[in-house]
Amino acid sequence: MSRVYNFSAGPSMLPLEVLETAAREMTDYNGSGMSVMEMSHRSKAYESIINEAFANLRQVLNVPENYKILFMQGGASTQFAAVPLNLMNKNKKADYIVSGQFSGKAFKEAQKYGDVKEIASSKDKNFSYIPKITREDIRPDADYVHICFNNTIYGTHFDYIPDTGDIPLVADMSSCILSEPIDVSKFGVIYAGAQKNMAPAGVTVVIIREDLLGNARPDTPVMLDYKAIADNDSMYNTPPCYSIYVLGLVCKWLQNLGGVKAMNEINKRKAAVLYNYLDNSKLFKPTAEKEVRSIMNVCFVTGNEEMDADVCKKAAGAGLVSIKGHRSVGGMRASIYNAMPEAGVDALVEFLKKYEEEHI
Ligand SMILES: *Cc1c(COP(=O)(O)O)cnc(C)c1O
Repeated sequence: MSRVYNFSAGPSMLPLEVLETAAREMTDYNGSGMSVMEMSHRSKAYESIINEAFANLRQVLNVPENYKILFMQGGASTQFAAVPLNLMNKNKKADYIVSGQFSGKAFKEAQKYGDVKEIASSKDKNFSYIPKITREDIRPDADYVHICFNNTIYGTHFDYIPDTGDIPLVADMSSCILSEPIDVSKFGVIYAGAQKNMAPAGVTVVIIREDLLGNARPDTPVMLDYKAIADNDSMYNTPPCYSIYVLGLVCKWLQNLGGVKAMNEINKRKAAVLYNYLDNSKLFKPTAEKEVRSIMNVCFVTGNEEMDADVCKKAAGAGLVSIKGHRSVGGMRASIYNAMPEAGVDALVEFLKKYEEEHI
């Protein structure tokens, strides 16, 4: 049984080496006589697994000392509520940049908790670009500003970090975390679901500047209260043990590869191969504006829905699976996260070239 190149937007590929390590350790982790799945989360063995995951993640993302890393649950979507519950605490105001579906959902969820304003949107061009904002666009009494750094569905990525002054900047980085070096100190909170670039679904990473802890609304569920989770080292209740274990392995894999910077070079190379082909293709057209193209999610169309469907079907037949675009963009989307080998992108380009030759 051979593995396919899986271009799914999430859950998505994990590095083969990580899967093989997990497989090797599946029934007997490190001489414990049990799987990580079966282990008490309060055991010594698990304690070292979670502590290593914290340490490895902190190292690869270069997280400063004054930031806490939290392992939470409920996916990035639960953070759409957790963020306002924890941070909309002074003036009950927050400003959102809506650059795609997920930031739109975050914006909508936050409205339950206060005065929330959409300060910029790229909806007018089906989210094919990133709105530019300046300090003047932000309400001076906003408790925070929220962005989605990489728009998974539309294949766009912020080409700048908005200057919010003293107002904390909150970023959903679900589909780009660990793909590029990030200056964490520019953000108040970074959050990301695991299943795009980190681990199996189940764990959500939250990175928060320490001074932002401890001011959650009184009616915040304890499971969403960043301070409660921080004070309990992400063990207030049973954490998503196995996902955290795999996250630790993925971070170790990144370290062996030379870290996030080295990974980013590979990612840029992969994206360049695909975009270069698409830019010169007579059949396929990328949909996102050039300056803000994501190197993780590459969206493109033929302009003919039937042909798009045919491309997806034939690609799957050739072992290149899940390249169907999200229905709101149509066409194709190749998600080329960290775990996608360069050979997978080369194979996709070869397939598309051949398809183009046969259909033009
Ligand atoms: C996938 C995704 C989400 C939703 O994540 P869940 O873990 O399914 O809640 C939110 N934001 C972005 C940017 C995503 O890519």
